[in-house]
Amino acid sequence: MSVLLKDLNDYIAPSQACIKPVEVNKTATESSNVIKIDDSGGYYEVFQDGVETKLETARITLDDCLACSVLITTQTHEELYNVLKSNKQAVREGRVDNVKTVVVSIAPQSRASIAAMYKLSPLQVARRLTHFFRSLGVDYVFDTSFSRDFSLLESAREFVQRYRGFQERQRQKLSLNDDKSKGLDDPSLPMLASSCPGWICYAEKTHGSVLPYISQTKSPQQIMGSIVKDYFAKKIGVTPNNIYHVGIMMCYDKKLEASRSDFFDEKYQTRDVDCVITTVEVVKMFGEQNYDIKESPELPLHSLTKTTQEGQLLGSAGSASGGFLEFILEYSARELFGMTGIDVDGEKGVVVKTGRNKDFKETTLEVEGKPLLKFASAYGFRSIQNIIRKMKGGNIQYHYVEVMACPSGCINGGGQLRPDGTVPIKDWIAKVNDVYRSVDSSSPEQNETVQNLYR
Ligand code: SF4
Repeated sequence: MSVLLKDLNDYIAPSQACIKPVEVNKTATESSNVIKIDDSGGYYEVFQDGVETKLETARITLDDCLACSVLITTQTHEELYNVLKSNKQAVREGRVDNVKTVVVSIAPQSRASIAAMYKLSPLQVARRLTHFFRSLGVDYVFDTSFSRDFSLLESAREFVQRYRGFQERQRQKLSLNDDKSKGLDDPSLPMLASSCPGWICYAEKTHGSVLPYISQTKSPQQIMGSIVKDYFAKKIGVTPNNIYHVGIMMCYDKKLEASRSDFFDEKYQTRDVDCVITTVEVVKMFGEQNYDIKESPELPLHSLTKTTQEGQLLGSAGSASGGFLEFILEYSARELFGMTGIDVDGEKGVVVKTGRNKDFKETTLEVEGKPLLKFASAYGFRSIQNIIRKMKGGNIQYHYVEVMACPSGCINGGGQLRPDGTVPIKDWIAKVNDVYRSVDSSSPEQNETVQNLYR
C-alpha cells in the first residue's frame, strides 16, 4: 500500500510516496470484495452480499515521519557535495585538521544497473565511477562485494551454530517427559536473512515475534561501514569521525539502515555509513557535473574491492540479492554433513522448486530422497506474508529463509535505474540480472584480503 503526502505546507520537501508497510489480513472469501469511495472520500469494503463496512484510515506515527525526515535532510548527494566543498575550503584556508577523508563504497547491484543502462561492462563502470568520484574530490572508492564476503561467512557460521544448538535442544527435549518439554521454545530456526532493511523495518513494526529468528549478522553495507571506520581509519591514521563514508546503493531503505542507532559510534559521534546515495541519484550527479560516463577515463580499482590479482572484478555465486541462500547451504552441507561439491546455482546436489509465484523458491539438500536442509527464498511482501503466516501457525519447515522486500530482490531495488517505456520492466530486470551475473564469482573463503583482515 502506498500513501501520497502532498501539498502540506509544513513539510520540508516535495511530495513523497510513504513506504510504511501495512499488513493486510485477507481471507479467501474476502478476495473478491470491492472497495467503494464515497463523495466525502470515505472508503468502504463492499462484501459479496452487498453489506458495506467503513474502512479505517491507515495510521502513520510521528516516529515514521521523523525517520523519513532524517533521510531527507542528511542522506542525499547534496550532503556529499557539501562535505567536498567544505574540504576544499578548509584546504584553501590551511585548516588541514578540518579536512575529512571521503570514502565511497559501491554496491555491485548499482554497478550492474549503470552498466546495463549505458551498455558498459561492470568493470568499465567500476573504473569510470572511480574516476568520477575521485575527480569530485573523493579520496577512496571501494565496493561492497568485498564486505559481503564477511557477511556471507558470518551468516553461514551463525547458521551452523544455530542449527547445532537447535539439534541439541531437540535431543534434550526428547529425553524430558512430556510435561517438562511443553514450555520449551526455540527461536533458533528457521534463521531469517538480515541484510534487507525493508524487511527488517516491516518485521520490527508489525511482527515483533519473529525478530529472534532474524540473523544477527550485519549487512554488506554495514560491515563495510565497520571496516572503513575501524580498520581502514586506523590504517590511514585518522579517527572515525574524520572519515565521511558514502554508500552507493540500490534502494532508499539502505538510507534508513545507515541511520539506525545500532550503527552510531557514541564515542566519536559518527555513523559507520554517513550517507547513502541511490543509483538514480548517482546518475543525477552525472547530469549536474556534466559527466559523460560513456566517454570517461578509467582509474585502477582499490584493494578493498573484490578483484582477481589481475584486477578483474569478482562477485559471489547465487542470486543478485547477495547469494546468501546459496553460500549458507553449500557451507552448511560441508560443515554439518561432510558433503562437498554441492552447487546450488548449478542445481548440483540439491532439489530446487519454484512455485507459481517466481518470488518464492524452495531449495532442498537431499540424500537418497531424504531432506537434510530445506531453504527458501521469499521476495516481495506477498511472499514475506506467506512466511510469516507459516511461522505464526507453527507450520514452517524451512531451516533458512532469504527474505527480501523487493519483488525479484535487490536487482530490482527502488533506487535502481528504470528503462524508458519501450522496454518491459520484466525484460529490463532480466537484463540487469545478466549483467550482474556476468562478473565471475569466487568463494568468500578464498578471499585472501578478507582472510587477512580476520587475522
Ligand atoms: S530487497 Fe529491496 S529493500 Fe531489500 S535490500 Fe534489496 S533493494 Fe533494498
